[in-house]
Amino acid sequence: MPDKETADAIVVGAGVIGSSIALELTRSGRQVVVVDRAGGAGLGSTSASSAVVRFNFSTAAGVAAAWESYAGWASWSAHLGHDVGDVARYVRTGLVMLDVDAAPRSAYVPLFEELGVPYEEWDSAELASRVPGLDVGRYWPPRRLDDPRFWHDATQTLGGVFTPDAGHVSDPQLAAQNLAAAAVREGARFRFQSTVAAVHRSGDRVSGVELDDGSTIWASIVVNAAGPWSGGLNELAGVGGDFTVSVRPMRQEVAHVVAPGGTGDATQPRPAVADMDLGTYFRSDVGGSLLIGGTEPACDPFEWLDDPDDAHLQPTSAVFEAQVTRAARRLPDLGVPNRPRGVAGVYDVSDDWTPIYDRTDLAGYYVAMGTSGNQFKNAPVVGCMMRTLIDEVEHGADHDTLPVVYTGVHTGLEIDLGAFSRRRSRSSTTGTVMG
Ligand SMILES: Cc1cc2nc3c(=O)[nH]c(=O)nc-3n(C[C@H](O)[C@H](O)[C@H](O)COP(=O)(O)OP(=O)(O)OC[C@H]3O[C@@H](n4cnc5c(N)ncnc54)[C@H](O)[C@@H]3O)c2cc1C
Repeated sequence: MPDKETADAIVVGAGVIGSSIALELTRSGRQVVVVDRAGGAGLGSTSASSAVVRFNFSTAAGVAAAWESYAGWASWSAHLGHDVGDVARYVRTGLVMLDVDAAPRSAYVPLFEELGVPYEEWDSAELASRVPGLDVGRYWPPRRLDDPRFWHDATQTLGGVFTPDAGHVSDPQLAAQNLAAAAVREGARFRFQSTVAAVHRSGDRVSGVELDDGSTIWASIVVNAAGPWSGGLNELAGVGGDFTVSVRPMRQEVAHVVAPGGTGDATQPRPAVADMDLGTYFRSDVGGSLLIGGTEPACDPFEWLDDPDDAHLQPTSAVFEAQVTRAARRLPDLGVPNRPRGVAGVYDVSDDWTPIYDRTDLAGYYVAMGTSGNQFKNAPVVGCMMRTLIDEVEHGADHDTLPVVYTGVHTGLEIDLGAFSRRRSRSSTTGTVMG
């Protein structure tokens, strides 16, 4: 291995976000090196992702990015542009977002109208008939299992908003590997089992990174796509002083259980359900199973971490029982197993649960971070947005004053990248993983 290597751009992190950025930067004609401390692509927080693709976000930029990105998943092989062997599949199940005052229809249905996202509004009778086996009771607010009110019968019902094009990606790690393989075909180089230990500057500009083996890669562009480790990398680079939005790692669990029978089959797959009313989301998975995650109900403690490496990556009985029991209120035929099964991972949570896709005050040093448990879905478009941002800023655009706009190649929608600025005033969002 040479002790000195040069490139046009270095991407730190080969998760789904870094791999997508690497693909697009390579397509722009740059020599790109991707550095990851893991042994392959997609082995960080991407590997724990539920990979749900939905369009319910609180901001126009959030909805537009998710809708544009969906088109990338739906035409995945074309998006990759190369035959990379086994590829991730898009599973179009639809998703129903159950009514909840904390994220009312009035907050996002007008955005669906404006941006052209197909949807159907369901009352409780329609919800019951379209998702057989689903209890349409309104239970708000979510409660802990040891709160006797958790077990009270519902006195009201709820409906929801169905988006038929939502779904999930069959294998999030494979999706990241697909992007990495396509980037390699374009000419990118990946350096695995290599940890960035220092970020070098020359004057006001980034000049490269030093790896833990003491070698240096020189480049005038460095992109921080380090997932939950992004805050630590910014500290190494000495950036963050002008950020108005900060990020913190948060541990998360997703339960895996056997789905109740009779509520979905191969010809009519079960829609995913976003259920802030009870504090969960769930979606089907291969082999008749169900993934159940949480939506940060206020009654549950948040598992903030000082260091993402401190995360215990096994599911716990307490969280498993809470998540599955809440889902079982919604799906009364769902069994609650005694032994926890599932995954644990780490979110990189920003103050307003909106990502930061931006330049920084260190010229040439860019960030794609704060993905807040909701940006797997946006990976295809994030690569394109970061490429556009980097191209324009490197050509002199003053993004902080006049934000760069990305125009979606599939939808033609204009996405104001100022919405993801490090210096934004806090976006008005649900303050949860729903964004
Ligand atoms: C449990 C869970 C469920 C989720 N569910 C969904 C969902 O349903 N839908 C959705 O849209 N999103 C979801 N997400 C969020 C989504 O998965 C993430 O936003 C996305 O995967 C982040 O990708 P990334 O590439 O930024 O980070 P990562 O995949 O974590 O990649 C970062 C990489 O950087 C490397 N790295 C870090 N520091 C260094 C360093 N100093 N030197 C070298 N390498 C370094 C790491 O090894 C890692 O591979 C979920 C996340 C979790 C944890």
